[in-house]
Amino acid sequence: MTSDLGLAGKRIIVTGAASGIGLETARLLASEGAVMVLMDRDQRALDAVADELRAVAHFCGDVTCEADCEHMGTVARTAIGGLDGLVHCAGVSDRVARAFDIDIDEWQRIVDVTLRGAFLACRAAARVMLEQKSGSIVALSSIRGLIGSPRRHAYGPAKAAVSMMTKNLACEWSLSGVRINAIAPGFIRTPMTDRLVEDGKIDEKILADRTPMGRMGLPIEVARASAFLLSDWSSYITGVTLPVDGGWVAYGGAGPVATH
Ligand code: NAP
Repeated sequence: MTSDLGLAGKRIIVTGAASGIGLETARLLASEGAVMVLMDRDQRALDAVADELRAVAHFCGDVTCEADCEHMGTVARTAIGGLDGLVHCAGVSDRVARAFDIDIDEWQRIVDVTLRGAFLACRAAARVMLEQKSGSIVALSSIRGLIGSPRRHAYGPAKAAVSMMTKNLACEWSLSGVRINAIAPGFIRTPMTDRLVEDGKIDEKILADRTPMGRMGLPIEVARASAFLLSDWSSYITGVTLPVDGGWVAYGGAGPVATH
C-alpha cells in the first residue's frame, strides 16, 4: 500500500543506499513507486539492494570524489531522463576521541566524507534539477551538528556545516524551483550505531533515559521524514534542518528525562 505523498514515478537517487538509513529510505521510496537509482561505495551490498528493489540503475562510487558525484548527474540524465529527488545518506562516524588524541588525517577524512561529500552530491544533483527548474534534495545532518558534544570534533562540526550548507544552497536555488533541506537524526539503530554500541562508545540505556520518547529511533522513521521532504507536502519548506530524534534536542536537562 502506498501513501498519498505522490512519489510514484518520481525519479530519485539515494546515496549510502547499501546500509542503514539509506537502505531503509530506498526501500520506502521504492514501495511508494519511485523510480530509483542507488549509489554507495560497497559494491556487493549495493548489488543486492538494487536487485531487491529492482532499481533502474545503481553504481558504486565515493562521495568525496567529484567525478563519482558528477556521474550521478550523467546516470540521472541517461537512465531516468532527469531527477526529482536526492536523499544523501552516505556517511561515516568518527572515532569518538578527545581533541588531543585525534589523528588529524583521520579528522580530515571524516570532514571530507561528511561535508565535501554532501556538497559534491547535492551540487551534482542540483545541476540536473536546476535545468528542469524543479527538484527536492534531502541531506543527512545529525543532532551532533545541532548540540555541543565532547569527543565528536570531526563529525559534529562537519554535520553543523552540512546544516549551514543546506541553508546557503536553499538561498541560492529555491527561486529556481529546487528545494533543499536537511534531517538531523538522533540515535537510530543502524550498523553505524551498532558498531558504536559494540565498541562501548554509546550506552543504549543512557540514551533511552536521556530521550524524551524513551528509545532509539528506527531507520524507517528517518526515511518517512525524507519522503515528506521530497514530496509536495513540504512544498513551502526549504533550508531547514529537521530533527528526527525522539525529542533529544528539545530536552535541555542534564540527566534522565524521568528525574525532572
Ligand atoms: P551506515 O549504516 O553506516 O550507512 C552508511 C552507508 O554510506 C554505508 O553503506 C557506507 O559504506 C556508505 N558510505 C560511507 N562513506 C561513503 C563514501 N565516501 N561514499 C559512498 N558511500 C559511503 O550509516 P547510517 O547510520 O545509516 O547513517 C546514514 C547517515 O545518517 C550518515 O550521514 C550519518 O552520519 C547520519 N546519521 C546517522 C545517525 C544514526 O544514529 N545512525 C544519527 C545521525 C546522523 P561503508 O559501510 O563502506 O562505510
